[in-house]
Amino acid sequence: EREEALNQAAQPAITRDGQLIEVLVNVGSVQDAIDARGADGSGLVRTEVLFQDHAPTVDEQVERFRAIAAALQGKPITIRTWDIGGDKPLPFLPQDHEANPFLGERGIRVFRRRPELLRDQLQAIRHVATETPVHVMFPMVTTADEVAWALQELGPRPEGLQVGIMVEVPAAALRIDTITEGLDFVSIGTNDLTQYTTAADRTNTSVAALADGLDPAVLRLIDHVVRNAGVRVAVCGDLASDPQSAVLLAALGVHELSAVGPQVPLVKARLRQADLSEVDTAEVLAARDAAQVRGLL
Ligand code: PEP
Ligand code: MG
Repeated sequence: EREEALNQAAQPAITRDGQLIEVLVNVGSVQDAIDARGADGSGLVRTEVLFQDHAPTVDEQVERFRAIAAALQGKPITIRTWDIGGDKPLPFLPQDHEANPFLGERGIRVFRRRPELLRDQLQAIRHVATETPVHVMFPMVTTADEVAWALQELGPRPEGLQVGIMVEVPAAALRIDTITEGLDFVSIGTNDLTQYTTAADRTNTSVAALADGLDPAVLRLIDHVVRNAGVRVAVCGDLASDPQSAVLLAALGVHELSAVGPQVPLVKARLRQADLSEVDTAEVLAARDAAQVRGLL
């Protein structure tokens, strides 16, 4: 079965009821992109993983983004701007000590006070976008004000550069209809959305059972975002890497999933076997806990 999934990896994932679901790959290195079999592009380039040791120049960033796009045969890549803070320190961007780093200056919040590193990155992204299909997205967005600020920092966009935000803060998910002005898409980060919805640290194994992406509370937020975003909705959190969950996300109306490399062919294969009209999403959303959701799937 795995063999068959690999053989068909490059084919599109079309469900039995005829829905095309794009399955992309999450990358943190050029090698991740080279290794990706059958991905329809990259739905998440983690730039804070891509550049670890020193603050890269604009040219270094351009070169690395170009290499990722080339490894994916020029299919669209979604570059996420620096997502720093919480579990992701960057040696070249020291942060103040915080009592609760996951609730502190993370993602886009870091750059309001010192935008220089972000400006360099946006310059590199704008440049690459003139050569190859590129999407850019901002992490940890909470408010409409942050979206407006990010769009201003981005400046005039080259034609074809699509702009989005990650939805991984419950407040942003709940009032998604008020924060997508000027955006082309949103991408749901289920890892952080789950962490913040369940108040369970994603790095703390003793509460791992609580931080379950199939918790109906998380699924209700995803459903709410799909219905109210008014723009294209993708999912790039780990939930998209699980074939069974991928079917549920597709049934909820998410038509773009980004998974870890080895899971891409398996997610595609599972989607091809699925009939989305047979998934009772109302029953899933009404479930009492993640275990019951798993039973239903
Ligand atoms: C997420 O939060 O789901 C996500 C994709 O971003 P990261 O795991 O890099 O925080
Ligand atoms: Mg995240």
